[in-house]
Amino acid sequence: MNEILEIANKIRSENINICTRCLGRLFGKLGYGLDNTARGKTLCLMLSLQEGLTFSQDQDDRSTAINGIDTQQLNNLQDVLNSFALDGPMMAAAVKILGLDYRIDSKSSVRAKGSEQLEEQIRALIKPELIKHISLDTVDVALDLDEDTDHARSQSTEECSVCSGLFDELPNFVDLVCEAVKDYEFSDLLIGCKLDLDKTVYEDELWSSLGVSHPEPLKSEFNRELGKLVGSRLGKDVNFDTPDMTIVIDTRYDTVKLQVASLFIYGRYRKFVRDIPQTRWPCKQCWGKGCKKCDGTGKMYQTSVEEQIAQKVMEASGGKEHFFHGMGREDIGVLMLGNGRPFILEISVPVIRNLDLAKLQSEINTHASEKVEVLDLEFSNHRAVPVLKADKPSKTYLVNVKFEKKVDIGKLKEVISSLSGKIINQKTPTRVAHRRADLVRKRAVVDIELISSSSNGKSAEIEITSESGMYIKELINGDNGRTIPSLTSELDMVCTVQELDVLRINDKK
Ligand SMILES: [Zn+2]
Ligand SMILES: [Zn+2]
Repeated sequence: MNEILEIANKIRSENINICTRCLGRLFGKLGYGLDNTARGKTLCLMLSLQEGLTFSQDQDDRSTAINGIDTQQLNNLQDVLNSFALDGPMMAAAVKILGLDYRIDSKSSVRAKGSEQLEEQIRALIKPELIKHISLDTVDVALDLDEDTDHARSQSTEECSVCSGLFDELPNFVDLVCEAVKDYEFSDLLIGCKLDLDKTVYEDELWSSLGVSHPEPLKSEFNRELGKLVGSRLGKDVNFDTPDMTIVIDTRYDTVKLQVASLFIYGRYRKFVRDIPQTRWPCKQCWGKGCKKCDGTGKMYQTSVEEQIAQKVMEASGGKEHFFHGMGREDIGVLMLGNGRPFILEISVPVIRNLDLAKLQSEINTHASEKVEVLDLEFSNHRAVPVLKADKPSKTYLVNVKFEKKVDIGKLKEVISSLSGKIINQKTPTRVAHRRADLVRKRAVVDIELISSSSNGKSAEIEITSESGMYIKELINGDNGRTIPSLTSELDMVCTVQELDVLRINDKK
């Protein structure tokens, strides 16, 4: 620990202007329990003790050394021991200076080997009878031991060459941040900052010229201190992981940039119409700009499940944009019934986050009535999105099948039962071949059942539960032999899907 004092002495001998806080920060990652200002103050005290002491190599002569401490130093030492509850490295430094025999173990604890003896010795040192001749007047002002003075200068009234008084401006930055976020609702925050390049470069150079091994960067202390102050002013917690609000302050220009975390709302939707897609579909002609073909709307379809749900959420949250994450999707012409399809709606830059979801749900359902309905709304987060997207549950469909000619019901039942549990080989369907890789997918029919058939024997309703990713239309029509087996191949007649509905998504919920 002599190393610390050597470095501190070097600072003093080279006349580097440094404030107590920046001095402490040079050793910011050593030890526990002290903030950098207290650390710096302790160091100053150690230096002054060192200067005032007569060192004795002879352990028995230790008391001589102790007697060499003058009134003020004893006073200061007592102050340190009482106020700062000396942490390991500082204790070790004190011990070295006092010439006591003490070794500290690497985890820096005053309970380390030999520490009882040390504590005893130090206690003896500050016993009232030993200092009875001390007058209790001024503690050295130069050492700035006043706890309330955060920006104490160690030896000089000149500006600190490391921080240039940046920490003195903290109250102004707090005001600036509070003003910038005042319109937003959020529960926790994280502060980041942009500093003068000069400051960081100087700090780097100082570190290497002094050879410090455990410094804390200026930036990190500034962020932490500002975060604490803003957090306590606004009554918000600091969150390093997923803050609602990330605030980046540029200390060069006194500007504040906000990164407002998106709001995520989970729910399930049902869709009752056959002419709207799941998400916004930009016009193929103009890619959303608006043209003749799309009547200036920029969209292929006038609305979508996403828009039906998002409109009310956008109004309530004051958000900027919306993004829809569904657990798969159904084709435009397919209804989504039963327990509904899970989705997460993401709203970017929300002003209001604490939405009344029950009220919102009923507003959405009134607004989107006849077309879309939502249920089970709850707050979610960004991590849930990939989980939702990766979930591939089986699905249950109701298919209305049209037969080329009158079908024999007995034969139909036989074929249907033969397909139950079968693995179906599906080459990428012709209808999606332009956007999907051409390969063979193997998917199982989990269950298949004849629900009803028309009296003329030309159509039937079949309920099918299949593994995720099965192309149901192709399971029925065979896609010219690209799906094997299929209802068409097994019945040996052309079967086509007239209508298709999703009855259930068999996810865990
Ligand atoms: Zn400083
Ligand atoms: Zn267009």
